[in-house]
Amino acid sequence: MNEEQPAVESCTVCGRKNRVPAAAAGVPRCGQCGSPLPWTAVADDRSYREVVEGAALPVVVDLWAPWCGPCRTISPALEKLARSYAGRIKLVKVNVDESPLTAGRHRVQGIPTLLIVDHAEVVASHVGAAPEHVLRKWVDDTLTTLGRAFVEPRSDHPI
Ligand SMILES: [Zn+2]
Repeated sequence: MNEEQPAVESCTVCGRKNRVPAAAAGVPRCGQCGSPLPWTAVADDRSYREVVEGAALPVVVDLWAPWCGPCRTISPALEKLARSYAGRIKLVKVNVDESPLTAGRHRVQGIPTLLIVDHAEVVASHVGAAPEHVLRKWVDDTLTTLGRAFVEPRSDHPI
């Protein structure tokens, strides 16, 4: 695993592939149309502060492990959420086997454990697998509580 390598994300509006760094000061935008890009990154004990706590957006942290079946079950739902909430959330995956300090700090008892971290503060948590609509509502409700439930202007999104 090499998390220094920027991920490549397809723009949800124009489809252009863009390199997206694990950590950035603002919100990554498409080089072609300027729309916010889906933002998925990987963090470990070493990079957690920069990638999660330094993010400008609320971060959905997925504490998972490769041997965990329920983690694999929810992974596609989380990636879908990262795409539909492009520009509003960042999704960060933390492998707890490789990141014992982060797991210990959040007192992870079972996985998957999902956290929503806003400006370095854990504002919501969810333990265990759940269907996509449940996770979506959880993210929605949390963004509403944070006052971040704004709707992107539709004029930017010709469909
Ligand atoms: Zn685009």
